[in-house]
Amino acid sequence: MTSLHYRPQPIGERKEAAWRQEAWTFCEGYKQFLDIAKTEREATTEAVRQLQAHGFRPFSFGDPLRPGDRIYYENHHKSVIAAVIGRRPIAEGMRVLAAHIDSPRLDLKQNPLYEKDGMALLKTHYYGGIKKYQWTTIPLAIHGVLMLSDGSRREIRLGDEEGDPVFYIDDLLPHLAQDQMKRDAANVVRGEELNIVVGSLPSGQTQDESGEKISERVKENILRLLHEKYGMVEQDFLASELEAVPAFPARDVGLDRSFVGAYGQDDRVCAYPALQAVLELEQVDRTAVVILTDKEEIGSVGNTGLQSAYFRYFAADVAETLGSNDRTVLSHSECLSADVNAAYDPTFADVSERMNASFVNKGVVLTKFTGARGKSGASDAHAEFQAGVQHLLDAHDIPWQIGELGRVDLGGGGTVAGYLANLGMNVLDAGVAVLSMHAPYELTAKLDIYATYQAFVTFLKNE
Ligand code: MN
Ligand code: MN
Repeated sequence: MTSLHYRPQPIGERKEAAWRQEAWTFCEGYKQFLDIAKTEREATTEAVRQLQAHGFRPFSFGDPLRPGDRIYYENHHKSVIAAVIGRRPIAEGMRVLAAHIDSPRLDLKQNPLYEKDGMALLKTHYYGGIKKYQWTTIPLAIHGVLMLSDGSRREIRLGDEEGDPVFYIDDLLPHLAQDQMKRDAANVVRGEELNIVVGSLPSGQTQDESGEKISERVKENILRLLHEKYGMVEQDFLASELEAVPAFPARDVGLDRSFVGAYGQDDRVCAYPALQAVLELEQVDRTAVVILTDKEEIGSVGNTGLQSAYFRYFAADVAETLGSNDRTVLSHSECLSADVNAAYDPTFADVSERMNASFVNKGVVLTKFTGARGKSGASDAHAEFQAGVQHLLDAHDIPWQIGELGRVDLGGGGTVAGYLANLGMNVLDAGVAVLSMHAPYELTAKLDIYATYQAFVTFLKNE
Protein backbone atom coordinates (compact mmCIF):
# COMPACT_ATOMS: atom_id res chain seq x y z
CA MET A 1 0.00 0.00 0.00
CA THR A 2 1.17 3.50 -0.72
CA SER A 3 2.16 5.35 2.45
CA LEU A 4 0.01 8.19 3.73
CA HIS A 5 3.01 10.49 3.44
CA TYR A 6 5.35 11.29 0.53
CA ARG A 7 8.67 10.43 2.10
CA PRO A 8 11.16 8.98 -0.35
CA GLN A 9 13.35 6.59 1.62
CA PRO A 10 17.12 6.56 1.23
CA ILE A 11 17.87 3.66 -1.11
CA GLY A 12 20.50 2.34 1.30
CA GLU A 13 17.76 1.62 3.83
CA ARG A 14 15.34 0.29 1.29
CA LYS A 15 17.31 -2.04 -0.97
CA GLU A 16 19.09 -5.21 0.04
CA ALA A 17 22.85 -5.73 -0.20
CA ALA A 18 22.58 -7.69 -3.46
CA TRP A 19 20.87 -4.74 -5.17
CA ARG A 20 23.54 -2.39 -3.88
CA GLN A 21 26.23 -4.73 -5.19
CA GLU A 22 24.62 -4.65 -8.64
CA ALA A 23 24.73 -0.86 -8.47
CA TRP A 24 28.44 -0.91 -7.66
CA THR A 25 29.14 -3.27 -10.57
CA PHE A 26 27.06 -1.15 -12.96
CA CYS A 27 29.07 1.93 -12.00
CA GLU A 28 32.36 0.25 -12.92
CA GLY A 29 31.17 0.21 -16.53
CA TYR A 30 29.94 3.77 -16.13
CA LYS A 31 33.32 5.01 -14.95
CA GLN A 32 35.01 3.36 -17.93
CA PHE A 33 32.53 5.04 -20.26
CA LEU A 34 33.25 8.42 -18.66
CA ASP A 35 36.98 8.04 -19.29
CA ILE A 36 36.53 6.86 -22.88
CA ALA A 37 33.82 9.36 -23.83
CA LYS A 38 34.70 12.87 -22.70
CA THR A 39 33.32 14.63 -25.77
CA GLU A 40 30.15 14.28 -27.83
CA ARG A 41 32.19 12.75 -30.66
CA GLU A 42 33.84 10.20 -28.38
CA ALA A 43 30.52 9.35 -26.74
CA THR A 44 28.99 8.76 -30.18
CA THR A 45 31.89 6.55 -31.26
CA GLU A 46 31.75 4.50 -28.07
CA ALA A 47 27.95 4.20 -28.22
CA VAL A 48 28.14 2.97 -31.82
CA ARG A 49 30.84 0.46 -30.85
CA GLN A 50 28.65 -0.94 -28.07
CA LEU A 51 25.55 -0.93 -30.27
CA GLN A 52 27.33 -2.90 -32.99
CA ALA A 53 28.63 -5.36 -30.41
CA HIS A 54 25.02 -5.94 -29.36
CA GLY A 55 23.74 -6.63 -32.86
CA PHE A 56 22.48 -3.17 -33.83
CA ARG A 57 22.98 -2.36 -37.53
CA PRO A 58 23.35 1.04 -39.18
CA PHE A 59 20.04 2.30 -40.53
CA SER A 60 19.61 4.42 -43.65
CA PHE A 61 16.32 6.10 -44.44
CA GLY A 62 14.24 3.77 -46.56
CA ASP A 63 15.76 0.52 -45.26
CA PRO A 64 13.13 -2.18 -44.66
CA LEU A 65 12.21 -2.82 -41.01
CA ARG A 66 10.63 -5.69 -39.10
CA PRO A 67 9.67 -6.20 -35.46
CA GLY A 68 12.74 -7.16 -33.42
CA ASP A 69 15.15 -5.24 -35.68
CA ARG A 70 17.93 -3.46 -33.81
CA ILE A 71 19.12 -0.34 -35.60
CA TYR A 72 21.09 2.83 -35.05
CA TYR A 73 21.36 6.10 -36.92
CA GLU A 74 24.52 8.14 -36.47
CA ASN A 75 24.20 11.86 -37.09
CA HIS A 76 27.35 13.83 -38.06
CA HIS A 77 29.57 11.95 -35.58
CA LYS A 78 28.00 13.89 -32.68
CA SER A 79 24.67 12.26 -31.97
CA VAL A 80 23.14 8.83 -32.41
CA ILE A 81 19.67 7.29 -32.26
CA ALA A 82 19.26 3.60 -31.39
CA ALA A 83 16.00 1.69 -31.74
CA VAL A 84 14.51 -1.75 -31.25
CA ILE A 85 11.44 -2.19 -33.44
CA GLY A 86 8.41 -3.32 -31.45
CA ARG A 87 5.77 -5.96 -32.10
CA ARG A 88 2.81 -3.59 -31.84
CA PRO A 89 1.81 -1.38 -34.79
CA ILE A 90 4.09 1.68 -34.95
CA ALA A 91 0.98 3.87 -35.10
CA GLU A 92 0.45 3.10 -31.40
CA GLY A 93 3.57 5.14 -30.64
CA MET A 94 7.10 4.67 -29.42
CA ARG A 95 8.87 4.83 -26.06
CA VAL A 96 11.74 7.30 -26.25
CA LEU A 97 14.65 8.18 -23.95
CA ALA A 98 16.67 11.29 -24.81
CA ALA A 99 19.96 12.14 -23.08
CA HIS A 100 22.67 14.56 -24.15
CA ILE A 101 26.34 13.75 -24.61
CA ASP A 102 27.81 17.25 -24.82
CA SER A 103 29.13 18.82 -21.60
CA PRO A 104 30.48 22.21 -20.57
CA ARG A 105 34.11 22.61 -21.63
CA LEU A 106 36.58 25.04 -23.15
CA ASP A 107 36.67 25.04 -26.95
CA LEU A 108 39.86 26.31 -28.59
CA LYS A 109 39.23 29.42 -30.65
CA GLN A 110 39.62 28.94 -34.40
CA ASN A 111 42.94 30.82 -34.43
CA PRO A 112 44.16 29.94 -30.94
CA LEU A 113 47.96 29.87 -30.76
CA TYR A 114 50.00 32.87 -29.64
CA GLU A 115 53.19 33.75 -27.85
CA LYS A 116 53.50 36.32 -25.11
CA ASP A 117 56.54 37.13 -22.99
CA GLY A 118 58.21 33.79 -23.50
CA MET A 119 55.16 31.55 -23.19
CA ALA A 120 52.97 29.90 -25.82
CA LEU A 121 49.23 29.80 -25.10
CA LEU A 122 45.95 28.79 -26.70
CA LYS A 123 42.92 31.07 -26.63
CA THR A 124 39.58 29.45 -25.73
CA HIS A 125 35.88 30.20 -25.89
CA TYR A 126 33.98 28.39 -23.18
CA TYR A 127 31.05 26.12 -24.14
CA GLY A 128 27.99 25.95 -21.91
CA GLY A 129 27.35 27.47 -18.51
CA ILE A 130 30.45 27.41 -16.34
CA LYS A 131 31.90 29.17 -13.32
CA LYS A 132 35.01 30.25 -15.20
CA TYR A 133 37.27 30.38 -12.14
CA GLN A 134 36.76 26.62 -11.60
CA TRP A 135 38.62 25.81 -14.82
CA THR A 136 41.97 27.31 -13.83
CA THR A 137 44.87 25.41 -12.19
CA ILE A 138 43.58 21.95 -13.08
CA PRO A 139 45.09 19.46 -15.54
CA LEU A 140 43.41 19.69 -18.93
CA ALA A 141 43.40 17.37 -21.91
CA ILE A 142 42.74 18.37 -25.53
CA HIS A 143 40.33 16.22 -27.52
CA GLY A 144 38.79 16.70 -30.93
CA VAL A 145 39.38 16.59 -34.66
CA LEU A 146 41.97 18.32 -36.79
CA MET A 147 41.12 19.06 -40.39
CA LEU A 148 44.43 19.02 -42.23
CA SER A 149 45.27 21.02 -45.37
CA ASP A 150 45.71 17.80 -47.36
CA GLY A 151 42.01 17.10 -46.86
CA SER A 152 42.45 14.45 -44.20
CA ARG A 153 40.90 14.38 -40.77
CA ARG A 154 42.75 13.43 -37.64
CA GLU A 155 41.40 12.67 -34.19
CA ILE A 156 43.25 14.12 -31.24
CA ARG A 157 43.21 12.96 -27.66
CA LEU A 158 46.13 14.27 -25.65
CA GLY A 159 46.43 14.49 -21.89
CA ASP A 160 44.47 11.48 -20.66
CA GLU A 161 46.89 8.61 -21.11
CA GLU A 162 49.66 7.71 -18.68
CA GLY A 163 52.77 9.63 -19.74
CA ASP A 164 50.88 12.27 -21.77
CA PRO A 165 51.59 15.90 -20.97
CA VAL A 166 48.58 17.86 -19.75
CA PHE A 167 47.60 21.49 -20.28
CA TYR A 168 46.93 24.23 -17.77
CA ILE A 169 45.29 27.60 -17.24
CA ASP A 170 47.18 29.69 -14.74
CA ASP A 171 45.63 31.93 -12.09
CA LEU A 172 47.04 34.64 -9.85
CA LEU A 173 48.73 33.81 -6.58
CA PRO A 174 46.73 35.10 -3.59
CA HIS A 175 49.61 37.38 -2.63
CA LEU A 176 49.02 39.49 -5.72
CA ALA A 177 45.29 38.97 -6.14
CA GLN A 178 44.15 41.98 -4.10
CA ASP A 179 42.50 43.60 -7.11
CA GLN A 180 41.30 40.33 -8.65
CA MET A 181 39.53 39.35 -5.41
CA LYS A 182 37.44 42.52 -5.64
CA ARG A 183 35.99 41.43 -8.98
CA ASP A 184 32.57 39.75 -8.79
CA ALA A 185 32.64 35.94 -9.04
CA ALA A 186 31.55 35.92 -12.70
CA ASN A 187 34.66 37.94 -13.48
CA VAL A 188 37.22 36.57 -11.03
CA VAL A 189 38.56 34.94 -14.16
CA ARG A 190 37.23 36.46 -17.37
CA GLY A 191 36.52 34.61 -20.60
CA GLU A 192 39.55 36.11 -22.34
CA GLU A 193 41.71 35.05 -19.41
CA LEU A 194 41.02 31.34 -19.98
CA ASN A 195 44.24 30.84 -21.94
CA ILE A 196 45.88 27.44 -21.98
CA VAL A 197 49.62 27.11 -21.45
CA VAL A 198 51.21 24.89 -24.12
CA GLY A 199 54.92 25.68 -23.96
CA SER A 200 57.85 27.93 -23.12
CA LEU A 201 60.91 26.74 -25.05
CA PRO A 202 62.17 28.62 -28.10
CA SER A 203 62.76 26.88 -31.40
CA GLY A 204 66.41 26.39 -32.39
CA GLN A 205 65.50 27.96 -35.73
CA THR A 206 66.14 31.69 -35.94
CA GLN A 207 65.20 32.09 -39.61
CA ASP A 208 62.30 30.75 -41.63
CA GLU A 209 62.53 29.07 -45.06
CA SER A 210 62.79 32.42 -46.86
CA GLY A 211 65.55 33.72 -44.60
CA GLU A 212 63.28 36.00 -42.55
CA LYS A 213 64.10 36.33 -38.84
CA ILE A 214 61.63 34.41 -36.65
CA SER A 215 60.41 36.75 -33.94
CA GLU A 216 58.16 34.34 -31.97
CA ARG A 217 60.36 31.31 -31.44
CA VAL A 218 58.33 29.71 -28.64
CA LYS A 219 55.24 29.66 -30.84
CA GLU A 220 57.45 28.48 -33.70
CA ASN A 221 58.62 25.55 -31.57
CA ILE A 222 55.03 24.55 -30.73
CA LEU A 223 54.07 24.70 -34.42
CA ARG A 224 57.05 22.47 -35.25
CA LEU A 225 56.05 19.97 -32.56
CA LEU A 226 52.47 19.96 -33.84
CA HIS A 227 53.74 19.41 -37.36
CA GLU A 228 55.92 16.49 -36.27
CA LYS A 229 53.15 14.87 -34.24
CA TYR A 230 50.08 15.54 -36.37
CA GLY A 231 51.35 16.82 -39.72
CA MET A 232 49.48 20.07 -39.15
CA VAL A 233 50.23 23.70 -39.91
CA GLU A 234 48.78 26.75 -38.16
CA GLN A 235 46.04 27.21 -40.76
CA ASP A 236 44.74 23.72 -39.93
CA PHE A 237 43.47 25.04 -36.61
CA LEU A 238 40.93 27.23 -38.37
CA ALA A 239 38.37 24.56 -39.27
CA SER A 240 39.29 22.12 -36.51
CA GLU A 241 37.22 21.36 -33.43
CA LEU A 242 39.44 21.05 -30.38
CA GLU A 243 37.99 20.89 -26.89
CA ALA A 244 39.85 21.25 -23.60
CA VAL A 245 38.36 18.95 -20.97
CA PRO A 246 39.52 18.09 -17.44
CA ALA A 247 42.26 15.46 -17.54
CA PHE A 248 41.37 13.64 -14.34
CA PRO A 249 39.75 10.20 -14.59
CA ALA A 250 36.49 9.08 -12.99
CA ARG A 251 37.04 7.89 -9.41
CA ASP A 252 35.09 6.57 -6.46
CA VAL A 253 34.54 9.34 -3.92
CA GLY A 254 34.16 8.82 -0.18
CA LEU A 255 35.43 6.26 2.30
CA ASP A 256 32.30 4.25 1.59
CA ARG A 257 32.85 4.75 -2.17
CA SER A 258 29.22 5.78 -2.53
CA PHE A 259 29.84 8.54 -5.08
CA VAL A 260 31.29 8.75 -8.56
CA GLY A 261 33.45 11.83 -9.15
CA ALA A 262 34.07 12.69 -12.80
CA TYR A 263 33.94 15.28 -15.53
CA GLY A 264 30.91 15.37 -17.83
CA GLN A 265 28.35 13.54 -15.70
CA ASP A 266 25.75 16.04 -16.90
CA ASP A 267 24.51 14.25 -18.86
CA ARG A 268 26.53 11.07 -19.32
CA VAL A 269 25.10 9.87 -16.02
CA CYS A 270 21.82 9.55 -17.94
CA ALA A 271 23.29 8.81 -21.39
CA TYR A 272 25.13 5.72 -20.15
CA PRO A 273 22.12 4.13 -18.38
CA ALA A 274 19.94 4.95 -21.40
CA LEU A 275 22.42 3.28 -23.74
CA GLN A 276 22.75 0.22 -21.50
CA ALA A 277 18.95 0.01 -21.29
CA VAL A 278 18.48 -0.21 -25.06
CA LEU A 279 21.41 -2.62 -25.50
CA GLU A 280 19.78 -5.26 -23.36
CA LEU A 281 16.31 -5.12 -24.93
CA GLU A 282 15.27 -8.20 -26.87
CA GLN A 283 11.62 -8.22 -27.90
CA VAL A 284 9.56 -5.16 -27.06
CA ASP A 285 5.92 -4.32 -27.56
CA ARG A 286 6.33 -0.70 -28.53
CA THR A 287 9.30 0.45 -30.58
CA ALA A 288 11.97 1.57 -28.11
CA VAL A 289 14.20 4.51 -29.01
CA VAL A 290 17.22 6.05 -27.30
CA ILE A 291 18.53 9.41 -28.51
CA LEU A 292 22.00 10.54 -27.49
CA THR A 293 22.04 14.14 -28.59
CA ASP A 294 24.45 17.06 -28.88
CA LYS A 295 24.40 20.83 -28.19
CA GLU A 296 21.98 20.68 -25.25
CA GLU A 297 24.32 22.86 -23.22
CA ILE A 298 24.08 25.73 -25.70
CA GLY A 299 20.38 25.51 -26.54
CA SER A 300 20.02 22.33 -28.63
CA VAL A 301 21.08 24.26 -31.74
CA GLY A 302 22.58 23.00 -35.00
CA ASN A 303 21.74 19.83 -36.91
CA THR A 304 22.98 17.59 -34.08
CA GLY A 305 20.83 19.37 -31.48
CA LEU A 306 17.20 18.51 -30.76
CA GLN A 307 15.80 21.77 -32.02
CA SER A 308 16.69 20.44 -35.47
CA ALA A 309 14.71 17.88 -37.46
CA TYR A 310 17.04 14.90 -37.23
CA PHE A 311 14.96 12.95 -34.76
CA ARG A 312 11.70 13.87 -36.48
CA TYR A 313 13.09 12.72 -39.83
CA PHE A 314 14.21 9.45 -38.23
CA ALA A 315 10.80 8.94 -36.65
CA ALA A 316 9.07 9.81 -39.92
CA ASP A 317 11.15 7.35 -41.88
CA VAL A 318 10.62 4.54 -39.40
CA ALA A 319 6.89 5.36 -39.30
CA GLU A 320 6.49 5.37 -43.08
CA THR A 321 8.52 2.20 -43.54
CA LEU A 322 6.20 0.50 -41.06
CA GLY A 323 3.06 1.84 -42.73
CA SER A 324 2.23 4.96 -40.70
CA ASN A 325 3.39 8.58 -40.55
CA ASP A 326 5.28 10.84 -38.14
CA ARG A 327 2.31 12.84 -36.82
CA THR A 328 0.43 9.70 -35.87
CA VAL A 329 3.42 7.97 -34.33
CA LEU A 330 4.83 10.97 -32.44
CA SER A 331 1.51 12.08 -31.01
CA HIS A 332 1.08 8.60 -29.53
CA SER A 333 4.64 8.40 -28.21
CA GLU A 334 5.93 8.79 -24.69
CA CYS A 335 9.34 10.15 -23.78
CA LEU A 336 11.60 10.54 -20.81
CA SER A 337 13.94 13.48 -21.25
CA ALA A 338 16.85 11.79 -19.51
CA ASP A 339 18.70 14.65 -17.88
CA VAL A 340 20.09 15.52 -14.48
CA ASN A 341 18.67 17.67 -11.71
CA ALA A 342 20.57 19.60 -9.03
CA ALA A 343 20.96 17.56 -5.86
CA TYR A 344 20.22 19.24 -2.54
CA ASP A 345 23.56 20.41 -1.15
CA PRO A 346 23.77 20.58 2.66
CA THR A 347 26.48 23.25 2.41
CA PHE A 348 24.39 25.49 0.17
CA ALA A 349 21.00 24.42 1.46
CA ASP A 350 19.31 27.78 0.98
CA VAL A 351 19.21 27.52 -2.82
CA SER A 352 16.80 24.60 -2.54
CA GLU A 353 13.29 24.35 -1.19
CA ARG A 354 13.57 21.09 0.74
CA MET A 355 10.05 19.79 0.20
CA ASN A 356 10.53 19.78 -3.55
CA ALA A 357 14.29 19.31 -3.91
CA SER A 358 15.97 16.11 -5.08
CA PHE A 359 18.48 14.39 -2.82
CA VAL A 360 21.38 12.03 -3.40
CA ASN A 361 20.61 8.35 -2.76
CA LYS A 362 16.85 8.75 -3.08
CA GLY A 363 16.47 7.47 -6.60
CA VAL A 364 15.72 8.64 -10.12
CA VAL A 365 14.43 12.23 -10.10
CA LEU A 366 11.18 13.03 -11.90
CA THR A 367 11.18 16.72 -12.76
CA LYS A 368 7.74 17.89 -13.81
CA PHE A 369 8.95 21.28 -14.95
CA THR A 370 12.19 23.20 -15.33
CA GLY A 371 12.37 26.81 -16.44
CA ALA A 372 12.85 30.02 -14.46
CA ARG A 373 10.75 32.95 -13.26
CA GLY A 374 7.24 31.57 -13.36
CA LYS A 375 8.11 28.28 -15.13
CA SER A 376 9.12 30.30 -18.17
CA GLY A 377 10.63 27.99 -20.78
CA ALA A 378 9.38 24.87 -19.02
CA SER A 379 7.81 21.94 -20.81
CA ASP A 380 5.70 21.00 -17.75
CA ALA A 381 4.74 17.34 -18.02
CA HIS A 382 1.06 16.44 -17.85
CA ALA A 383 -0.26 15.06 -14.56
CA GLU A 384 -1.63 12.00 -16.33
CA PHE A 385 1.70 11.11 -17.90
CA GLN A 386 3.78 11.71 -14.76
CA ALA A 387 1.34 9.61 -12.72
CA GLY A 388 1.72 6.79 -15.22
CA VAL A 389 5.50 6.87 -14.85
CA GLN A 390 5.24 6.94 -11.04
CA HIS A 391 2.91 3.94 -11.08
CA LEU A 392 5.23 2.04 -13.40
CA LEU A 393 8.25 2.66 -11.15
CA ASP A 394 6.30 1.73 -8.03
CA ALA A 395 5.07 -1.47 -9.66
CA HIS A 396 8.72 -2.47 -10.20
CA ASP A 397 9.94 -1.22 -6.81
CA ILE A 398 12.31 1.26 -8.43
CA PRO A 399 13.33 4.14 -6.12
CA TRP A 400 12.22 7.54 -7.40
CA GLN A 401 11.70 11.04 -6.07
CA ILE A 402 10.57 14.38 -7.44
CA GLY A 403 12.85 17.35 -7.96
CA GLU A 404 12.59 21.07 -8.60
CA LEU A 405 15.64 22.87 -9.92
CA GLY A 406 16.22 25.27 -7.02
CA ARG A 407 13.86 27.53 -5.17
CA VAL A 408 11.52 29.90 -6.95
CA ASP A 409 13.11 32.89 -8.70
CA LEU A 410 16.69 31.93 -7.87
CA GLY A 411 17.68 30.89 -11.37
CA GLY A 412 16.71 27.84 -13.33
CA GLY A 413 17.55 25.85 -16.38
CA GLY A 414 16.18 23.78 -19.20
CA THR A 415 16.50 20.46 -20.96
CA VAL A 416 15.53 18.99 -24.31
CA ALA A 417 12.05 18.19 -22.94
CA GLY A 418 10.39 21.18 -24.62
CA TYR A 419 11.79 20.41 -28.08
CA LEU A 420 10.59 16.82 -27.87
CA ALA A 421 7.20 17.90 -26.57
CA ASN A 422 6.94 20.19 -29.60
CA LEU A 423 6.70 17.02 -31.70
CA GLY A 424 3.53 16.00 -29.88
CA MET A 425 5.01 13.42 -27.52
CA ASN A 426 4.27 13.27 -23.82
CA VAL A 427 7.57 14.18 -22.13
CA LEU A 428 8.81 14.07 -18.54
CA ASP A 429 12.31 14.90 -17.30
CA ALA A 430 13.86 11.97 -15.45
CA GLY A 431 17.45 11.48 -14.34
CA VAL A 432 20.10 11.55 -11.67
CA ALA A 433 20.62 14.23 -9.00
CA VAL A 434 24.09 15.79 -9.37
CA LEU A 435 26.21 17.81 -6.95
CA SER A 436 28.46 20.57 -8.36
CA MET A 437 26.76 20.35 -11.76
CA HIS A 438 28.81 21.90 -14.60
CA ALA A 439 31.99 21.93 -12.47
CA PRO A 440 35.10 20.26 -13.95
CA TYR A 441 34.53 17.38 -11.51
CA GLU A 442 30.92 16.54 -10.70
CA LEU A 443 29.51 14.21 -8.06
CA THR A 444 26.75 11.59 -8.35
CA ALA A 445 25.60 8.74 -6.10
CA LYS A 446 25.99 5.16 -7.34
CA LEU A 447 22.63 4.02 -5.98
CA ASP A 448 20.88 6.79 -7.93
CA ILE A 449 22.67 5.83 -11.14
CA TYR A 450 21.50 2.25 -10.85
CA ALA A 451 17.95 3.26 -9.94
CA THR A 452 17.92 5.47 -13.03
CA TYR A 453 19.14 2.61 -15.20
CA GLN A 454 16.38 0.36 -13.84
CA ALA A 455 13.81 3.07 -14.47
CA PHE A 456 14.97 3.43 -18.09
CA VAL A 457 14.90 -0.32 -18.76
CA THR A 458 11.40 -0.58 -17.30
CA PHE A 459 10.14 2.40 -19.28
CA LEU A 460 11.47 1.03 -22.56
CA LYS A 461 10.20 -2.49 -21.92
CA ASN A 462 6.76 -1.07 -21.21
CA GLU A 463 5.47 -4.32 -19.88
MN1 MN B 1 21.92 18.28 -18.77
MN1 MN C 1 23.87 21.00 -18.22
